[in-house]
Amino acid sequence: MQNKKQGVRHLVECNCYLPTQKNKAGEKIIFHGFPVFSVIDENDNVVPKTVQCNNCNAIHSVDRICGSKIIVGEEVHLSQIQKEEISLMIPSKLSRILEINKCDLTIWEEVLFCFQEKEWNKRIVIVNEHKNKFNKRVGKVLIIKSSQDFEIELFEIDNFITGIE
Ligand SMILES: [Zn+2]
Repeated sequence: MQNKKQGVRHLVECNCYLPTQKNKAGEKIIFHGFPVFSVIDENDNVVPKTVQCNNCNAIHSVDRICGSKIIVGEEVHLSQIQKEEISLMIPSKLSRILEINKCDLTIWEEVLFCFQEKEWNKRIVIVNEHKNKFNKRVGKVLIIKSSQDFEIELFEIDNFITGIE
């Protein structure tokens, strides 16, 4: 039996690092990680895609979860889908929700995937903030119940019990 296609958001590590992550003497450099949305096909293979690092603009070829190859010498290109394009393919109310919450491209891609695959009732975390002072994570989950029925749920969880990035 074949599996269903799946959409996954995952983190890919680049060779660059953010200024705030510059290593102090003796400390290990923490490389910059950026989110990527990938589709896993019916045969459990990750559908390869080309993405750009959101910090240094390096082009990555992503063909597995949490891993990639940097393609040297590749130019910036338009082959990556844009938020504006996705907003034309999903209901405008939903686009508005994603805009208001300043969602990154991978969340837009995940929402589009749910529409294309009619994967209803999936819970998509659209805001996820760490409140240091209270050691809590607070945020919002978007639930697409059908092509025209959406719901937003607020959450607040103690930080130590979650592994969500
Ligand atoms: Zn980078």
